[in-house]
Amino acid sequence: TLILGIESSCDETAAAVIRNGREVLSNVISSQIELHKLYGGVVPEIASRKHIEKINQVIEEALEEADTTLEEIDAIAVTYGPGLVGALLVGVAEAKAISYAAGKPLVGVHHIEGHVSANYIEHLDLEPPFLCLIVSGGHTHLVIVKDYGEYEIIGRTRDDAAGEAFDKVARAIGLGYPGGPKIDKLAKEGNKEAIAFPRAKIDGAPYDFSFSGVKSAVLNHINSCQMKGEEINRADIAASFQESVVDVLVQKTITAAKNYHINKIAMAGGVASNSALRKGMERACTREGFQLYYPSPIYCTDNGAMIGVAGYYEYKKGTRHGWDLNAVPNLKIGQR
Ligand code: ATP
Ligand code: MG
Ligand code: FE
Repeated sequence: TLILGIESSCDETAAAVIRNGREVLSNVISSQIELHKLYGGVVPEIASRKHIEKINQVIEEALEEADTTLEEIDAIAVTYGPGLVGALLVGVAEAKAISYAAGKPLVGVHHIEGHVSANYIEHLDLEPPFLCLIVSGGHTHLVIVKDYGEYEIIGRTRDDAAGEAFDKVARAIGLGYPGGPKIDKLAKEGNKEAIAFPRAKIDGAPYDFSFSGVKSAVLNHINSCQMKGEEINRADIAASFQESVVDVLVQKTITAAKNYHINKIAMAGGVASNSALRKGMERACTREGFQLYYPSPIYCTDNGAMIGVAGYYEYKKGTRHGWDLNAVPNLKIGQR
């Protein structure tokens, strides 16, 4: 079975061909990061326009690299939410057009379910059920993956997403966009115990997250340094901030795994490529005897392969979408 996966929910135009759900035959990503850098974040109108310019070429390349043609594809999988509506619409319209023209089934995919499914690519032994920590640019969830395409959300962020916090703190210390990878790098030169940033606990919600407090604490720290006329130590801020985020993510994930009696933990989304988070989770899982899974960095951030993989399992279950498929910017996990 060959699935063409298409992704355009944010600032990556991407397409991939997936064989039998787990084998990546091609994975083409056209990133707009350089373009949005100028503005310090993603500008929706620019994103949509760029997707329109790139999408045909990206899909053609994906088919070519996979040494296949549209005729040989069994289904077209496309992200239809959540994300930027104008950006999503480009992928959805394209997928509908191709699917109509080639007479192939159309399968709409949830972007975050795609992030989770990225774990299946390099871990052929990984099968549900498992616990997944989703840490992306716009979402932070703890979910139990009960079966392919079946999710139970047990925790979520109350305010900022983990990736959002990395990006905002990076901007505050002048690192630019996207900030996650830059904080990761700079933190290696800093002391993670230099500054005691808060670890948010939420009464009665052991698996929920909050990152706005630590973000404010970083801003306050910078302000108070400036008022005292002290130079800020950016590496120490990066290391200490990262440590407080990683600490909370690891603790809550391990607690959930214990309480739900799940011994397989996966991570998904852009922040899952953070080196401190990987190390911290690795250490905790070794201590507890849990099995840990995470994708290579290229499959952590947005890509078409993860959409093709999620699409494959939906296709196998019989999910089909019609010509009325629309972009759903606030699509909920598990919604079809
Ligand atoms: P969503 O998937 O929620 O719609 P998104 O698609 O923009 O949001 P992703 O592609 O999953 O998000 O990931 C991008 C985010 O990951 C950015 O916030 C970026 O800063 C963060 N990120 C990427 N690499 C790292 C890293 N090494 N350390 C920390 N954060 C990182
Ligand atoms: Mg992106
Ligand atoms: Fe994403």
